[in-house]
Amino acid sequence: QFPFGRRLPCDIYWHGVSFHDNNIFSGQVNKFPGMMETVRKITLSRAMRIMQDLFPLEYNFYPRSWILPEELPLFVAEVRTMKDNNPSWKPTFIVKPDGGCQGDGIYLIKDPSDIRLTGSIQSRPAVVQEYICKPLLVDKLKFDIRLYVLLKSLEPLEIYIAKDGLSRFCTEPYQEPTLKNLHQVFMHLTNYSLNIHSGNFIHSDSVNTGSKRTFSSILCRLSSRGADVKKLWSDIISLVIKTIIALTPELKVYYQSDIPAGKPGPTCFQILGFDILLMKNLKPMLLEVNANPSMRIEHEQELSPGVFENVPSPVDEEVKVAVIRDTLRLVDPQKKKRKDAHSELFPKPTPRVIVCCRCQNSEQAPEASEELPDAAPGAEAALPSLCLKQVFPKYAKQFSYLRLVDRVAALFIRFLGVKGTTKLGPTGFRTFIRNCKLSNSNFSMAAVDILYIDITRRWNSMGIDHKESGMCLQAFVEAFFCLAQKKYKSLPLHEQVASLIELCECRLAALHGKRLLWTAT
Ligand code: ADP
Repeated sequence: QFPFGRRLPCDIYWHGVSFHDNNIFSGQVNKFPGMMETVRKITLSRAMRIMQDLFPLEYNFYPRSWILPEELPLFVAEVRTMKDNNPSWKPTFIVKPDGGCQGDGIYLIKDPSDIRLTGSIQSRPAVVQEYICKPLLVDKLKFDIRLYVLLKSLEPLEIYIAKDGLSRFCTEPYQEPTLKNLHQVFMHLTNYSLNIHSGNFIHSDSVNTGSKRTFSSILCRLSSRGADVKKLWSDIISLVIKTIIALTPELKVYYQSDIPAGKPGPTCFQILGFDILLMKNLKPMLLEVNANPSMRIEHEQELSPGVFENVPSPVDEEVKVAVIRDTLRLVDPQKKKRKDAHSELFPKPTPRVIVCCRCQNSEQAPEASEELPDAAPGAEAALPSLCLKQVFPKYAKQFSYLRLVDRVAALFIRFLGVKGTTKLGPTGFRTFIRNCKLSNSNFSMAAVDILYIDITRRWNSMGIDHKESGMCLQAFVEAFFCLAQKKYKSLPLHEQVASLIELCECRLAALHGKRLLWTAT
């Protein structure tokens, strides 16, 4: 809301699609810069691959993926080797166009040679992924889970997970993929937008039946069958935290570019939609992350041919209203003011704006905002308990060892130089090598330049971002891994990388100390 027009700054900016307004200098925006780009299928797969290279066991919740067209030869070769090693392995793969959504353009294949290389795929990059053939079934149907996650802050990292989510069901009984049923989307794809068009779709009027149900209703059912639901939740929490740890390095690069440190700017938060598939053995697998999950609490109903009306969807309402309400409660700017005022022992009765989302339809909707007196504790007490539970920093200790790429990104950002860029120039790369004292008689500055040119050229030829020239973060990470492998030959990759990070941080700290001394004298 802009109660006094756009001239006055607001506490919270609620954007529909992305962070795009560079004229906001204070308050909070509900989107992070670069989030849309970071969670695209290809970028997400790349980020997960880096983490899988470093920590293969910890990141085995993401299906093995290859990027098309550039990794087609690698895909073909790896599948051939795996088949040679295990002749009884009869895999299925799922091909998903980059930037697609709602199941658009997705198809299943049994063999790499079935990839459709004509027409659209060449102009439209895609991810090909191992298909999870043995999902958990309920009522003989495949389903996936949409969980809502609030990334409340990037630095320091703060993550909240909604206690309930949605389970979206297929509308044809599931069978393991065969050449005959590969094309049956209502059997294999759980997308609501696809299954709604099947004659079998059942709109739920309660939360535990129909083609869209609450996740808690599934958990109840699993628990009554004796499943270890506590362990399942703990696995899901790990999956969410590890995924966000994989995304933060890239997000930080975008953040410093759009909101440079030291200049006035807003802070950001964002509600993300995690799509998770449960395997038969209850292992959760990540399918994708949505930067713009639908918050609709109605669905369309065809009254007579061609005549539609919007009707409330109790399941969506149950889950989504709580997510938005709690997000606003958690980012509530008045809360901080109240806390400060309280701690100063001068309680300040400030009016607060409550955004009301619990409206059935626009005619019955109450005023978009209600001015309520700030009876702070009472007002909070009148609301249901929070559905968003903090998982980070709560469980930070268990996961801190995974945050290696974050530290590589911090080195990258330090050498970006001119604020507002996301790519490192050759001079920045040379300064990084020189300041960290990484060149020597075996690794000359000429070799440094060759490394920079080779890696940068290859990444830029993949044509993801032509807006800027130079070395992107993933290219820098590749170069960094290369240097780490060279320097610490016999260690496992994550130890090589950790050792090089420590060396760089140490040398930069010493240099900084020296500079401080020079300026002091
Ligand atoms: P979109 O963004 O187009 O919805 P998704 O990655 O979510 O793409 O995939 C669409 C659907 O395909 C998922 O909801 C899920 O039912 C199915 N699916 C996707 N990847 C896999 C996989 N690796 N194994 C099994 N099913 C999958």
